[in-house]
Amino acid sequence: MAHSMDTDKQQFAALMQQFIGLEQDYFETINEKPVANTAQLSANEGLTELGTGASEALEYFSEFFAEELSGSNGPRYLGFVTGGATPAAIIGDWLTSLYDQNAANFSYSLAGQIELLTIEMLKDLFSLKQAYTGSFVSGATMANFVGLAQGRQWIGQQYGQDLAENGLFSIPEIKIASGTPHSSISKVAAMLGIGRNALQQIPVKDDREAVDLAALETFLKQLDRPCIVVANAGTVNTVDFDDLEAIGQLKKNYPFWLHVDAAFGGFAACSPKFERLLTGLNHADSITIDAHKWLNVPYDSAMQFTQHQELQLEVFNNHASYLNTGGAQPDFSNLTPENSRRFRALPAWFTLKAYGKAGYRQLVEQNSAFALELGKRITDSPFFELLSPVRLNGVCFTLKDPAKTTEFLKKINQAGQVFLTPTTYKNQPAIRASFSNWQTKPADVAIIWHSLEAEAQQL
Ligand SMILES: *Cc1c(COP(=O)(O)O)cnc(C)c1O
Repeated sequence: MAHSMDTDKQQFAALMQQFIGLEQDYFETINEKPVANTAQLSANEGLTELGTGASEALEYFSEFFAEELSGSNGPRYLGFVTGGATPAAIIGDWLTSLYDQNAANFSYSLAGQIELLTIEMLKDLFSLKQAYTGSFVSGATMANFVGLAQGRQWIGQQYGQDLAENGLFSIPEIKIASGTPHSSISKVAAMLGIGRNALQQIPVKDDREAVDLAALETFLKQLDRPCIVVANAGTVNTVDFDDLEAIGQLKKNYPFWLHVDAAFGGFAACSPKFERLLTGLNHADSITIDAHKWLNVPYDSAMQFTQHQELQLEVFNNHASYLNTGGAQPDFSNLTPENSRRFRALPAWFTLKAYGKAGYRQLVEQNSAFALELGKRITDSPFFELLSPVRLNGVCFTLKDPAKTTEFLKKINQAGQVFLTPTTYKNQPAIRASFSNWQTKPADVAIIWHSLEAEAQQL
């Protein structure tokens, strides 16, 4: 019998059994997997006329792909700010696929209402005031896009222009001011038609990545017209935070849209030890927080929050009129870049329901304690130099001989015990270690340190 979708449907229970058999020891073996894998794909068979059926596809995956995928979901992947996926989030993600709801509107499914509920839970987690509304997008880059698109619309409004209707032609050049913006801000400026050159990097404080307030004020004064300010709550190199309260106060005297990129730094709100880093966050007109980073849900998930949903509607409205299936609540397809949308709220809801505020407080405090410990070991070591105090979950450091950084990182990453990514900090080669995975335990910090020292000794 030829394999078909219908035969697989009939065998779905057996397929699930097979799937469970292959994956049930995933969490037991993840610690042994190389943290990063750069092997070449060993199987490259293309599309065939007849398919194999899901059972054989699963075996093929298991034989040729699974082993070669990286252990980036494991405890010692410290590159970028990657996060992991909690058991509850994984189940939520699987169910998202099984139920396959289109979370575009409220007309035929509860998915939209569950998204609203999840957004409220997240506002609670991040201590955001009631005035914010929010929605899920695919990542922090898209959340920054949604935030800055509203900023663009707001600037038009200051000139009496509807840019969403008429384009950018009728107003002076838009400027985006920021101290240490994430690379995605420049990409967003390109996507929005504002242009990458709109980004005006404002000087930062000495030995910091936080914006120099006097320099920001001087810029605003000299520009003397409405602009966008992107404040950073957690820079990727040194996890530095702009003074959000002080920047918020500047709004009294200067016209600007305040967007806060808190992709991972927003999670400082989960712990009384770190929440002061975010003082003033509620001044933001729009906020970005990633879910596939420190919330530890699978990829393709971030939140955008705004205090100006009416501007968001003007930009993303997909109907000739604001016809919404949810009454006063606008359809998500009128608020986000996508029209049809994955039910991204479900993995987030699962993990919040499963682990609660305490679970995230613990995750944030534990990861940050590991960063502090690694920072201390680096400070005491003859091989390394700490480049910035550890404020939250990231460690920025270099070798005593920074010229050897590339070689060192290559060796470390090949050894497979830990994965670290390079950066440039204050014009010198540097290394960053970011702790953002729930699976990282004290024993991992010991393994990481051992690996770092062993490779440094051999340089
Ligand atoms: C990761 C990150 C982004 C981009 O996020 P994606 O989810 O990769 O799109 C933006 N800003 C900051 C501060 C980040 O850490």
